[in-house]
Amino acid sequence: MNPSDWFTEELPGADSAFSLKIKKKLHGEQSAFQFLEIYETEGFGNLMVIDGCTMVSTRDNFFYHEMISHPALFTHPEPKRVWIIGGGDCGTLKEVLKHSSIEQAIQIDIDERVTRLAEIYFPELCESNSDPRAELKFIDGIKWVKDAEPNSVDIIIVDSTDPVGPAEGLFSKAFYQDCFNCLTEHGMVVQQSESALLHLKLIGEMRDAMSSAGLGYLQTLFFPQCIYPSGWWSATIASKSSLANFRELDAANKPFDTRYYNADIHKAALAQPEFFKKAFSL
Ligand code: SAM
Repeated sequence: MNPSDWFTEELPGADSAFSLKIKKKLHGEQSAFQFLEIYETEGFGNLMVIDGCTMVSTRDNFFYHEMISHPALFTHPEPKRVWIIGGGDCGTLKEVLKHSSIEQAIQIDIDERVTRLAEIYFPELCESNSDPRAELKFIDGIKWVKDAEPNSVDIIIVDSTDPVGPAEGLFSKAFYQDCFNCLTEHGMVVQQSESALLHLKLIGEMRDAMSSAGLGYLQTLFFPQCIYPSGWWSATIASKSSLANFRELDAANKPFDTRYYNADIHKAALAQPEFFKKAFSL
């Protein structure tokens, strides 16, 4: 194995690494916020890497983008306004806009360069960017939520990088309190919540911070994501009101295509592993 043929993300906390065989490096730049790289891989299409961490690949991004959006959108009674904090590759925005109830979807990523690179190397994720309901803003999502008016959004999707650098504050109680203040009555936050195998402590801290900010109804969903550490990822929904009303019939009859998400996957993703139930007394 020739190391120069491979992109490798080392996972120091897990004493392991993940590699993809590359054809060539397409781009590398230091933006104002992070180091951005794009590779063409042999088996996974294009790959975006931020600060050495895998973000998006052509081949497997649909798991993540569908699971961070549709479960919450089919649980909220009638989502009209959605904000995506982060999400600069635009894949989550594309999924959100598949719902006809959506009147406005605003993507707020701190780094415009991520979106400009996605437009070039992941055009299929950006194909809904010109939808009249879509708005792209390039500012800090923490400030955006802090400055927002009360009752101004139904669902906030936090599609961020890991909790270091500019994303660190997106995992804090203060941020969730600001989310609480601008959410509508059945409002909810959905956040990518890393790997339950590798990051259980972080998930626990996140769940505590969400509850203590008033978002007391929690669901953590599990799904595969082979380019992320451990290959097994999660998203956590935190709501002001009960999450028991999954609109299963609407999900079963959804008038749009998905590649992974459906009503059965939704229910299956809510099954909680034994060690997870034990850790959080579920
Ligand atoms: N799916 C990916 C994952 O879990 O690894 C996340 C992809 S998305 C490209 C992450 C985005 O979060 C990046 O584009 C980054 O610029 C953005 N981001 C990080 N901190 C942010 C902040 N404070 N406000 C808004 N966007 C932020």
